Amino acid sequence: MNIDRHGRRFRKLRLSLTAACNFACTYCVADGRRLVAARDELTAQAMLSAVRLLKNVAGINALRITGGEPLLSDRLEPFLLGLDTLGLGDISLTTNGQLLTRKLPLLVRAGVRRLNVSLDTLNPDTFGHIARGGDLNSILLGLEQARKAGIAIKINMVPMQDLNLDQVLPMLQFCLEQGYELRFIELMRMGHLAENPRAFRNRYVGHGELLDLVKKRFEFVPVGAPKDSTALRYKVGDLGTFGIIANESAPFCRSCNRLRLSSTGWLYGCLSSNRGHYIGDLLQQPENHTNSQLEKLLAYALADKQETEFTGSALIMKSVGG
Ligand code: SAM
Ligand code: SF4
Repeated sequence: MNIDRHGRRFRKLRLSLTAACNFACTYCVADGRRLVAARDELTAQAMLSAVRLLKNVAGINALRITGGEPLLSDRLEPFLLGLDTLGLGDISLTTNGQLLTRKLPLLVRAGVRRLNVSLDTLNPDTFGHIARGGDLNSILLGLEQARKAGIAIKINMVPMQDLNLDQVLPMLQFCLEQGYELRFIELMRMGHLAENPRAFRNRYVGHGELLDLVKKRFEFVPVGAPKDSTALRYKVGDLGTFGIIANESAPFCRSCNRLRLSSTGWLYGCLSSNRGHYIGDLLQQPENHTNSQLEKLLAYALADKQETEFTGSALIMKSVGG
């Protein structure tokens, strides 16, 4: 088992089920074109083998399925149903919610109890401008159905200057009323934003500015979060809680235990590093041959982690799963 000098080890795996997406969010995709699946994406069976190996060799105990848009992929069903035998304690999924109404029965059947749904605004025009695809009403309907099915929901919102800052208070109000936990995600210097610092700076909103905005309508106090949590959490009286994932202004690199696997079989130890470590070929071999090779690749991936702060990278979120 690999542990680094800060005591960090991999515990949480984010798996990108596909690089394809039915949206083209401005902060994720440079050119507004919807994303297609990468060539040579792993089969559902190979992804299941990867999860099993990473559980056994790295000690992964939590899985988040993401993408691209995971609900788009025809791997979703065989993958989810195959997870049953792996005995992972914690399985969750991040989605843009567009296909939620259609895929909810499958998610419920497969035992998914936690969903993160990305939603940056309740204003249909702004929604169209940011997501460049999809339909806001379908997402809201999917959210309502998922809530009624007993699924715990977090909403991911990326606040951006001159785009959706006016939505911070309405979004929080809406989430508190519906019983969703809102997570503000600070804009990250990934992909095209890493290559264009001015575009990044023009849109970025920090933790302090967000809290000042929330104070205009709500009283809140900080609440504790697990040591390895990425979010700073706040309680709004008896109404509920919200969080801020302050990648830039309060980095959590020192306690980061995340490992990412792309849909094409590359492991990434850190979002600030472009370096991938290919495990696709290991998945074809008998397990007793693969463990020591995988240990070595995991050690490289762990060494890729930043010491203190997130520095951004040219990696595109849709291929490493955000
Ligand atoms: N398509 C799904 C979705 O949008 O929820 C899953 C994949 S998406 C890459 C995962 C998360 O990454 C989303 O919540 C999205 O808002 C976030 N994300 C993508 N690009 C980002 C960026 N440059 N800065 C901050 N968050 C970003
Ligand atoms: Fe697609 Fe999610 Fe990226 Fe938006 S953030 S383009 S929904 S992968």
